Parts: sequence; C-alpha cells; structure tokens
Amino acid sequence: MSATPPKVGFVSLGCPKALVDSEQILTQLRAEGYETAKSYDGADLVIVNTCGFIDSAVQESLDAIGEALNENGKVIVTGCLGSKKDAAGEDIVQKVHPKVLAVTGPHALGEVMNAVHLHLPKPHEPFLDLLPPQGVKLTPKHYAYLKISEGCNHRCSFCIIPSMRGDLVSRPIADVMLEAENLFTSGVKELLVISQDTSAYGVDIKFRTGFWNGKPVRTHMTELVASLGELAKNYDAWVRLHYVYPYPHVDDIIPLMNGGHVLPYLDVPLQHSHPDVLKRMKRPANGEKNIERIQAWRKICPDITIRSTFIAGFPGETEEEFQHLLAFLQEAQIDRLGCFAYSPVEGAAANALAAAIPDDLREERRGRVMQLQEKISRDRLQAKIGKTQRVLIDSVDRNGAVARSSADAPEIDGVVYVKRPYDPARQLKVGEFVDVTVTAADAHDLWGSVD
Ligand code: SF4
Repeated sequence: MSATPPKVGFVSLGCPKALVDSEQILTQLRAEGYETAKSYDGADLVIVNTCGFIDSAVQESLDAIGEALNENGKVIVTGCLGSKKDAAGEDIVQKVHPKVLAVTGPHALGEVMNAVHLHLPKPHEPFLDLLPPQGVKLTPKHYAYLKISEGCNHRCSFCIIPSMRGDLVSRPIADVMLEAENLFTSGVKELLVISQDTSAYGVDIKFRTGFWNGKPVRTHMTELVASLGELAKNYDAWVRLHYVYPYPHVDDIIPLMNGGHVLPYLDVPLQHSHPDVLKRMKRPANGEKNIERIQAWRKICPDITIRSTFIAGFPGETEEEFQHLLAFLQEAQIDRLGCFAYSPVEGAAANALAAAIPDDLREERRGRVMQLQEKISRDRLQAKIGKTQRVLIDSVDRNGAVARSSADAPEIDGVVYVKRPYDPARQLKVGEFVDVTVTAADAHDLWGSVD
C-alpha cells in the first residue's frame, strides 16, 4: 500500500463566496486522497485563498501569503487577490511574493487542483488509481492527440458536426497544459493538437486568462502554442497543429515554428479556392487571401509543410470554378493534400443547393486534383534528396525503421523509411529521434539513412 498521503495546509480568507470556493477545493483534495494539515510544519504544501476587496483585506492576504512562505515555503495562492493587478498592470501577488508556486483567480477549482497535482503529486495507488495520469490512450506511447476544444461555431453547409457536437466549448488552458505535461512525462514525444477549429480556441470564453506555472496565460491559440512549445522544449518533444483556419492571428505562430519544437507544419483545411464556392460552403475565413498568406508563411519559415483538404464537385461547382481550384493548387504548391469528391451527408444544408454535380463528374474532378497533386508532391519531395531531416521512429524491423519527419503527421501523411545502420551496435528504437540523410523519394514517402 501507499506511504502516508500528502498533506495540504489551507488558509481561507474573505467573504462567504470565497469560503465556498475553499470548501470546494478541500472537498476535491479529500476526494483525491490528500489530507489536510493543521500546522504549517505538518504540511507538504499550503494553499492560501485570498481576498482583494479593500486595502486592509489585500494587506491581510499578502501577510498570510508571506507567513505561509516563511513557515512552509511551498505556497499556492487562489482567490480574488490572485486576479488583481496594480496601477502598472502587474500581478500584485507575483510582484510582492515572486516565490509562490502558482496564482489563480477566484472560483478556479480546476486550476488550483492542477497546481496541486504539479507540485505535490498524489502517489500512485495501485488499488485505488485505475488510471495512469495521462489517461487511457489508443495511440502508441510516443505520440498522442491533445484535444483543446469541442464543437464548432461555424455552419459549413456540407458539415453536420455542429448539429452533433454543438457550439465551440474551449477547455481551460490550465487543464490543457496539465494534460500536455502529463503526456510528455509519460514519454510522449509528439503531441498533436486537435479540435474542430484550432484557430478559434478561447473565443467562447472571451480568451479568459488562466494560469500555468504561476503565470497568467490567455485561452488563446497563440498563447497556447507558445506555452506548448516551451513545455515541449523541456522534454525534447514535438508539437504539431491540426485544423487551423487561416485567420490573421495564425501569422503570429509561424515564427514559433523556426525553433524546432512547434513543428513547421500547418494543417489548414481550405476545401476550395473559388470565392463563390467558399461562400456557398459558408466556410470560415473565406475572404482570406490564401495564396499570399501561404507565400508569407514560407518566407518566415522556409521549411513549413502545408497540409490541406479540398472538396471537388461541390453542388453548383462550374468547370470555371473547378479550373480556379486547379490553378490555385498549381500556384500554392501545397505539400500534403487530401481531396474528396463531394458527398451529400444526410442533414447537411448543401444538399438543398441547386445543381448537384453528377457522381461520375465529382469523381472525375477529384481524380484530376489528385493527378496534379501527385506531380506537385513528387517534385517537392525530390527536392529533399541529399538534405538531413530529423525523424521520429514509429516502428522497427530487420530492414531498418519506419519514421516520420516534421512533414508527416501519423496516419494521414507519408513516412520516411530509414535503412538499418551498418554498425550492428547502433540499434534504432521506437520513439527515438534520429537524423537521416534523404537518399530517395517518390510522390508520398522518403527513404534515408542514419548519419
Ligand atoms: S467543417 Fe465547418 S462546420 Fe464543420 S467542424 Fe469544420 S469549421 Fe465547423
């Protein structure tokens, strides 16, 4: 059985609303197997729930934090003072007591518990804990999906997801970061950020500020990506972004991709290029100048891989509109592309649009897109021959290994076949990063050898 349960000291200040917050935190602590300590000495960590209403209450709270720091040293601060700033816009608690482990605002049970888990982890109790901290995963140990939100605020006319999953609900940023940390700690080397619309993260909660590692972080895509990139650096791991709609703020994350941990890879589902088709599709960001955006991204981050999906034969698509799509693809030189012939999903608004395209024409157009893309992809992959690529190994056999570079998301993109090293002592391992020199390419995959 486990050793003594970890003990948390608790100081509760302020009004009845703060008291109820304290009760909820204490209830959760007890439910998770923590004990409460009656003295600073006997506590492994102290939580101070503060009040920030009037000056005397602020001072009382700051004094209580100072006392807990002196007597114990490990202090988490929550409550109204946690979200209060001084005239210069700085966080009051952080400024007066920079040594506190974490600071949250009021009514922040999840964030407080995340901070407790981080600084005073509950020992694994095999008879009670049926789940590992990272949860049950269906992916291999070295990569995992991180879902940051559920649902979608858009109403694309070919899609029924919002009617099944509802409007966008973003997960609190502290929860997302804690899950990311648990995954990295458990050995994950590549984190794949997913949602229905990653660019919209936080819109539903007005980009509310949460706390991570004691620092305020907004529930916003750019701050999330920056924080995940920092975290991934500590674990020498990758972060890959999926389902990013090309809103202007996406430009801000491209510079982060030159550092190596946020992968230079953007999965941007564009679906079409012609403005009239995009309007009929009711696509988000349908007014964006996507060619210019892609070119600008490549200027900032020359190694960026753009992945996208398209629909051929959408209701009413004229030959001229389809030609517009082909011309767009030729110019955009998208690296990884999936194309689907339009399929009338039951319940989708697009089915009611006039001028459905015959099945065989939809298929024929899809074939023409894929034919063009095959050439584009082949040329782009050929250009990698002779270059060195960092790859993550997915599987090993007697011929060598199957791996993926920054350009290859699992399941949907190509792979890199790595030749078995000449040195028999050099064993390749699943989940290991290796640098390979690319020796050959076809339209989808690369071949290479370990340097
Ligand atoms: S296709 Fe459109 S409506 Fe459907 S999930 Fe994506 S953005 Fe939302």
